[in-house]
Amino acid sequence: MGIPLRQAARIGQYVLTQKLRGREKFPLLMELEPLFACNLTCVGCGKIQHPASILKQRMPVERAVAAVEECGAPMVSIAGGEPLMHPEIDTMVAELVKRKRFVFLCTNALLMPKKLDLFTPSPYLAFTVHIDGLRERHDASVSKEGVFDAAVAAVREAQQRGFRVTTNTTFFTTDTPQTVIEVLDYLNDDLHVDEMMISPAYAYEKAPDQDHFLGVSQTRELFRKAFADGRRRRWRLNHSPLFLDFLEGKVDFPCTAWAIPSYSLFGWQRPCYLMSDGYTATYQELVDTTDWERYGRGRDPRCANCMAHCGYEPTAVMATMSSLRESIRAVRRA
Ligand code: SF4
Ligand code: SF4
Repeated sequence: MGIPLRQAARIGQYVLTQKLRGREKFPLLMELEPLFACNLTCVGCGKIQHPASILKQRMPVERAVAAVEECGAPMVSIAGGEPLMHPEIDTMVAELVKRKRFVFLCTNALLMPKKLDLFTPSPYLAFTVHIDGLRERHDASVSKEGVFDAAVAAVREAQQRGFRVTTNTTFFTTDTPQTVIEVLDYLNDDLHVDEMMISPAYAYEKAPDQDHFLGVSQTRELFRKAFADGRRRRWRLNHSPLFLDFLEGKVDFPCTAWAIPSYSLFGWQRPCYLMSDGYTATYQELVDTTDWERYGRGRDPRCANCMAHCGYEPTAVMATMSSLRESIRAVRRA
């Protein structure tokens, strides 16, 4: 199953409406982080190093919903931390689904067996399970044995209950084209998840492991080799063809981080969820008071190795929608 037709049509209509209204900067997907606490301690994580006083905070549902409404993004990715540790995560999701937002509930899956009963399958809801590799690689990535098997069991249980399940896989310098192929083949052909997202790891300043983040040329080579021989077309990747071209180094884009803004306990994060140059109270204030020209590869040294979807997928989506040829490619997943 690809991107559901309902979702593709809604996003297309939303982008068209924003353009007709003359809005130059608008959100496509909002990253919502209602807590930073997690039940794992992954070495590449840039979120769990906050002090205990921050880690114990939980964003009230009303505040999260108000931020989603103010921003207006049609898609919301709820991350953290581990969102299933939020005591009102079910209410938060239900309120967003009621407002017809497409919700991606990102999770390491450990709490899914306990919490699945709290949710109802909906075309507006997908569980997005973090799986960084096959058993050995994933367990090493999350620094705990048994997590891969637990995640696979949770995915199967959710699928049986009729939930849409996608995955999110981050790649490091320890990956090779072969490990990329192995995990994506497994998710695509054995686990049959609805869609897969992939990302080169971003070098968070706070991440404990600073040695294994990919540079731009390494990223391009890794994906070019992994995507070869028709695999890219065969895999149900939840990315536009132009973003996949970008990962392979066939095209380059400027960063448009304003289209995937991040809202956390601290407010709207400037300029994106990977870097924090301050916070604002509203999305509009974020758009109006950020000097966007300062950010992106070649402009800010902290962006030098970034090829993350929060900066570059929106640029690829906008480029797709302004070209008939690229729109047809996207429909055909070419
Ligand atoms: S599961 Fe996610 S939030 Fe938790 S430690 Fe790992 S990367 Fe960080
Ligand atoms: S390139 Fe864009 S998305 Fe990446 S870190 Fe810089 S501002 Fe953030």
